[in-house]
Amino acid sequence: MPKTGEQPGSGLYVCSSCGTVVRLDEREDALPPCPTCEGTEYK
Ligand SMILES: [Zn+2]
Repeated sequence: MPKTGEQPGSGLYVCSSCGTVVRLDEREDALPPCPTCEGTEYK
């Protein structure tokens, strides 16, 4: 599973803890901490 700080590529990532969807628009963007729960694991 992608985690905060990784660069998994553009797309939609769902926080494993709360389900918040984070969108990465650029391939170079790194995943931020979840804006809702500050979780660091996505799926
Ligand atoms: Zn979350």
